[in-house]
Amino acid sequence: MSAINNRTDHYKTIKKTCYIANIAYLILRAFYLILFIVTGVYSMAIYTGATILFYLGCFYLVKKRRYYSYALLCGNEFFAYVITITILCGFASGFHLYLIGLSVVSFFTTYFSKNHRIQGSILWAVLSVGLYIMLFFVTRNNSPKYLFPNWMNVTLMTVHIVVTFLFIVFYLFTFTSYSLSLEKKIMFESRTDELTGINNRYGLYDYFAQEENKYNKVLALFDIDNFKIINDTYGHVAGDFILKRIAEVMKETLKGAFISRYGGEEFIVVVNKDNAYESLESLRKAIENEVIEFEGHKHQITITIGATSYKKEISLEKWIELADEKMYSGKNSGKNKTVI
Ligand code: GH3
Ligand code: MG
Ligand code: MG
Repeated sequence: MSAINNRTDHYKTIKKTCYIANIAYLILRAFYLILFIVTGVYSMAIYTGATILFYLGCFYLVKKRRYYSYALLCGNEFFAYVITITILCGFASGFHLYLIGLSVVSFFTTYFSKNHRIQGSILWAVLSVGLYIMLFFVTRNNSPKYLFPNWMNVTLMTVHIVVTFLFIVFYLFTFTSYSLSLEKKIMFESRTDELTGINNRYGLYDYFAQEENKYNKVLALFDIDNFKIINDTYGHVAGDFILKRIAEVMKETLKGAFISRYGGEEFIVVVNKDNAYESLESLRKAIENEVIEFEGHKHQITITIGATSYKKEISLEKWIELADEKMYSGKNSGKNKTVI
């Protein structure tokens, strides 16, 4: 389910980005069109008019979810537009600055594309640098065909500096916020037990790594008594239902304590040392008294808890092993008890 959600977020982000970018491209082209008409550079005005039609058509591609084709077409169109205008109108108008933004977009596209081919982005970035240098030298050695008035070059250069920065910030912002939210989601899901919704063993590893007050803690491992019989008699679904209910009872009883499902029908909790035995006993009794109803059958189950306080510099594995030994002594001496 969560994998499906991740895909949905992924496509939503791409779609939104494409729409925003396409609108921005159109606004820019409309701005150029007006400038070219005002200054009487009609060939450039016609070219720009044609690109406006191209970007209007691009909405159809985005609507049809052809994001990769859209990115590829726009990238190439930008290359062609920048090269043509820079050669014909000179370096002073700053159209070449778009090449810096295009490198960023190519990496963004790779991240959101299906094949994740980073080599394509590197090639694109190298090509952009090459083109940038080429345009610099070509325009140095050849005077431009159309000379813009100074005010227009200053206006265009200012617009291009601002737009290039905005371009980069927009793509990096979208990329960073998407990957951060994804990372948060993945971190949460990788530490959560799917069945019960409490921590899994990776959550426990994190807890152990982060807990600074271990000397005041008691780690308790518990295992359900005779659980195999329930599974064998009523089926795995009934067993799973019971596991879920136990996790709920744990949450209700051990407020503020660390709780986790270690695996199968074994759980690990970490409670405060001061009243550890009382807390664990209250959990054991709460589970013992809980009547779990599933498909017309009433189940009452018990658990055996083994618990031990933290000893100097022991590893988590060792701490669990010590609690496990206590738990087994409880199992061997009649079950349904807390051994500490
Ligand atoms: P004991 O009192 O000695 O613990 O007896 P037991 O029958 O509980 O024995 P054991 O702990 O070895 O049994 C583990 C059983 O737990 C085996 C398996 O059927 C069941 N089990 C483990 N994981 C799951 C799970 O995710 N879902 C369900 N439904 N059952 C599980
Ligand atoms: Mg077991
Ligand atoms: Mg068991």
